[in-house]
Amino acid sequence: SSNDVHNDVGDVGDGADHSDAHVIIDLDHGNPTMYEEYWRQMGDKTTIVIPGWQFISYFSDKNNICWFMEPDFAKAAIRLHNLVGNAATQDRYMVVGTGSSQLYQAVLYALTATDNSKPMSVVSAAPFYSAYPVLTDLLKSGLHKWAGDAYNYSTNEPYIEIVTSPNNPDGSTRRSVTSGDKRILIHDLAYYWPQYTPITHGADEDITLFTMSKSTGHAGTRIGWALVKDPEIAKKMTRYIEISTIGVSKDSQLRAAKILQTLSDQYNTTNNAEGKERFFDYSYNVMLKRWKELRAAVDNNEKFSLPKFSPDNCTFRGQSFEPQPAFAWLKCEDESVDDCANFLRGHNILGRSGKYFGSSPKYVRISMTDSNYKFKILTKRLAGLKSLDI
Ligand code: PMP
Repeated sequence: SSNDVHNDVGDVGDGADHSDAHVIIDLDHGNPTMYEEYWRQMGDKTTIVIPGWQFISYFSDKNNICWFMEPDFAKAAIRLHNLVGNAATQDRYMVVGTGSSQLYQAVLYALTATDNSKPMSVVSAAPFYSAYPVLTDLLKSGLHKWAGDAYNYSTNEPYIEIVTSPNNPDGSTRRSVTSGDKRILIHDLAYYWPQYTPITHGADEDITLFTMSKSTGHAGTRIGWALVKDPEIAKKMTRYIEISTIGVSKDSQLRAAKILQTLSDQYNTTNNAEGKERFFDYSYNVMLKRWKELRAAVDNNEKFSLPKFSPDNCTFRGQSFEPQPAFAWLKCEDESVDDCANFLRGHNILGRSGKYFGSSPKYVRISMTDSNYKFKILTKRLAGLKSLDI
């Protein structure tokens, strides 16, 4: 049926085999539309209705450091972490943000708004998420400045290292790569969820960032959250969001809360009587299938290579599996191709060049979480490129 995403879409393949060559496949952004089909199947389970008179106030919880955070949202996020086991939640302060993008800016502010005379350096191991340099330097702040690749970075001054695990763009599992005692770590764990990678431990870091965008796929809801050990940092982050946007949409927080609650309820056996596939099973299976198909298209294809991953045991799934990241970090192996993104663009596939991630243009990042339709064309086209002359 057309509602079953495990059946691949009928638009491509059968009979229409050569007619889609002109279709431009835009996989530049990590737009998680593959999740739409799942939530559609959940029907009204995640629907909320908000009458016009409700949630008019700026305030949500005056007793919380993060006074604009809806208690139901905070509860739902903690409940999900406890279910999945991907983050320690005890003795932590939570701050909600308009996406984790706002929290990134809030945490930079919180860590650097001191009486430093010079801007504090911010580094991350290359290849790093392309938004970090842009966000860090957007306002040409006197507080912080982007200082690039964390490998081989050394200084006597305090600095910030962002650790992204699993990493965007290459899906690798990461730890800090610097060792200075002046280092302050931010852990961006946007992809530390069991559809992408084995959950091996509950992250117990000083500052961790999570987002709806990559966990349930609700990128448009623009809700992220930070778990922070130090209340002073949570206070300053809250202050940043208070000054910049006077809080975070309550409507969005309530929608996020509902979605997270529905997800956790599925693992409560008495609530799952309808036998619908649970979210993390569904999303795990889609990613598994996609990675198999991508590897089948690219393996034995001398033009391209993909990162290799080793399996690990996932405490949440109770099974061992290999990472199946939200992005493919594709390398053009052909010597005549210097710019992989450019080469793929010539074949109507849009990805993001490795150069935006502090890496080589031999690499290109391709989203693995877009629609089945686009993904199907992607694999077919890549497999077809094998026999073609460049
Ligand atoms: N961190 C990482 C590593 C990401 O890949 C993204 C989204 N591409 C974000 C943060 C930002 O996500 P959002 O603002 O949608 O929460």
